[in-house]
Amino acid sequence: MHTLSQEARVEEVMHDRVYKTDDEWRQQLTPEQYWVMRKRGTEPPFTGAWWEHKEKGLYRCAGCGFGLFSWRAKFDSGTGWPSFLAPINESHLAHHEDRSYFMHRTEVSCSRCGAHLGHVFDDGPPPTGLRYCINSAALAFEPEEQRQEEGVGAPSPE
Ligand code: FE
Repeated sequence: MHTLSQEARVEEVMHDRVYKTDDEWRQQLTPEQYWVMRKRGTEPPFTGAWWEHKEKGLYRCAGCGFGLFSWRAKFDSGTGWPSFLAPINESHLAHHEDRSYFMHRTEVSCSRCGAHLGHVFDDGPPPTGLRYCINSAALAFEPEEQRQEEGVGAPSPE
């Protein structure tokens, strides 16, 4: 699985897409998750579960469980939203131009289920210079110990 080429990995993602109806998402998600992930909402800063969270583990898409960000790439941006230098794999995110609210931003979503996650900005610290500003409501955290106990193995490489 880890020996697949980048192209093969993208294919794997493509074939593993999650499609659900609006009603299905509404039933599965909490109202806040639904508003953020399916209606492209933004939670108020300093209110989410993960902005200050520093435990070791993997942040997954709260909609479909796709692994998105490692704790290793998390940094304190001071914004009140979970902030990351990079995803665990570029192909796990989809980027879209967002010109709403009279701004020009780049929106990021889960490439597996299409959930809105947040935005990426180019004012991050080295080495990437990127700041993935993600809503806590769009993330489910999996502690590293749990991954090892379940035999999932080492955290995904960055
Ligand atoms: Fe997803």
